Amino acid sequence: MNIQFPRIFRIFFRSFTWRKTPSEKVIYLTFDDGPVPEVTPGVLDILDVYGWKATFFCVGENVRKHPELYEEILKRGHKTGNHSFNHIKGFNYSTEQYVANVLKASEYIDSNLFRPPYGRITRKQAGILKNNFEIVMWDVITHDYAKNLTIKDVFENVKKNVRNGSIVVFHDSLKAKENVLKVLPMSIEFWESKGYRFGVL
Ligand SMILES: [Zn+2]
Repeated sequence: MNIQFPRIFRIFFRSFTWRKTPSEKVIYLTFDDGPVPEVTPGVLDILDVYGWKATFFCVGENVRKHPELYEEILKRGHKTGNHSFNHIKGFNYSTEQYVANVLKASEYIDSNLFRPPYGRITRKQAGILKNNFEIVMWDVITHDYAKNLTIKDVFENVKKNVRNGSIVVFHDSLKAKENVLKVLPMSIEFWESKGYRFGVL
């Protein structure tokens, strides 16, 4: 299972943020693709139980549909990031179209953090967006949305791959609902037992 980008890709896009502080036992939790009423409130409640803070990379059209959820994320002390207006893949759009889509999302999401959907973005698109955004990728993607993976699989993936300074991706999306709501508390408890604390991007 491919949970990390190939090293060559990290070198090619070295100006992106992939991982923080390798010398510190800190985990940077991120949640992509929300906010949605079926999942986001559950994720927020879990984070509150443990007192952990995270960054939510929101899809603009979801924020437009559920502005109260977006406000709730902020009210509970988390950060937000831009994840495009309607979750488009950079390779399928011209640079102008892609940048316009991200800027449209900015009308709903006040953040200087951007994460390209699917991690797919061209050098040219990134070159322009870098003027306004820090482009945040990830060190570990949990695959919580994968239908063929059980809760145990996703948790094993987390346990095996997360390390100092990891930026970890979960999803507050319908596809990930079953896994994320179960694996998130297990993961936080596991990390805390190993002496990790949270960091915020
Ligand atoms: Zn996404």
